[in-house]
Amino acid sequence: MPTRVVIVGNRFQHEGSTASASELIVRVEMNLSASKRSVIIDDTTLRDGEQSAGVAFTIEEKLDIARQLSAIGIPELEVGIPAMGDAERASIRAVAALRLASRLLVWCRMHEDDLQACRNLGVQMVDLSIPLSDEQIRHKLGSSRKQALQCIRYYVPKARDMGLEVCVGGEDASRADVDFLRRAVETAQDAGAQRFRFADTVGAMEPFAVYECISLLCSVTDMQIEMHAHDDLGLATANTLAAALAGASHLNTTVNGLGERAGNAALEEVVIGLEKLYGFELPVDLSGFCELSRTVAHASGRPLFWQKSLVGEAHLLTKPVFTSTACSRIQKTIRELIQQNLEERIVLCWENTLESMLCKKCLRIWGLT
Ligand SMILES: [Zn+2]
Repeated sequence: MPTRVVIVGNRFQHEGSTASASELIVRVEMNLSASKRSVIIDDTTLRDGEQSAGVAFTIEEKLDIARQLSAIGIPELEVGIPAMGDAERASIRAVAALRLASRLLVWCRMHEDDLQACRNLGVQMVDLSIPLSDEQIRHKLGSSRKQALQCIRYYVPKARDMGLEVCVGGEDASRADVDFLRRAVETAQDAGAQRFRFADTVGAMEPFAVYECISLLCSVTDMQIEMHAHDDLGLATANTLAAALAGASHLNTTVNGLGERAGNAALEEVVIGLEKLYGFELPVDLSGFCELSRTVAHASGRPLFWQKSLVGEAHLLTKPVFTSTACSRIQKTIRELIQQNLEERIVLCWENTLESMLCKKCLRIWGLT
């Protein structure tokens, strides 16, 4: 059961008592350790990742990335924007034809032509996106809050009639008026949507505010709630973890954090953070992640920063991450430490790192144990 929190003024009311945000999160962590929770990763490398300026995957690259994401156990993949044209739709159909275990979504504006482009693609769900902040309603839609709600009422049943499950994507939801946001969510549910995506489109949020917002949404709807974070302030992963703690059922990620501007929440950081920091149980096997990370880095033309968390060459996540230069440098350091009889300390230290088993495997491969 998601944790239910009511906001009273600037305090949270939780299980009959009030608490500050930090106190509450400590309590949530304790709850999590008592009973393991799960959350569904909806990876959008093939949609929002590809929306990065200058990034365009070939169909072969899309198929390769989709196969690898599914192989490591990512349950949902957002695979494109049908309205972009025939080539995009062909690539979406090709991914669907792989018949992967992962469920597939496409992204769509609430426009008649865009929705018609979502027919016969072989995907299960459509994210029907609509701006919800006053600024974007005015500038992107040239309309009003009332018209935005009318769009939700009109397009959600239409998509359902096409045989698609519907996620209503609340674009720029993080800057929307909270009462209006609540009305939009209620309208989406009444119209037949299964999910609401809370998009921090401009990456303006911080984890405590995310926790507050997602808790509020969970308290007003039975729909699935999905977090979509951007990393403009370097907080996409933290915000995504906060959303999971607040009860979000789905989380958007991208491989290597690829995405518009500063990118999205990085898949590897979110998965490791959920599992190791908060005890979530996810069906994701990160042993194949390094190959996936390199595939996306190569296909996107965005090489990984050497110090990138978890998958950069500076990190000991798995052997394939290392270039021969980095590998030999680390081997040399380890050999020197071992000569100083510090092996036990090294292993002990690594046992406290996130992927100690893999680190030990590296030691074995290098002939150091
Ligand atoms: Zn986005």
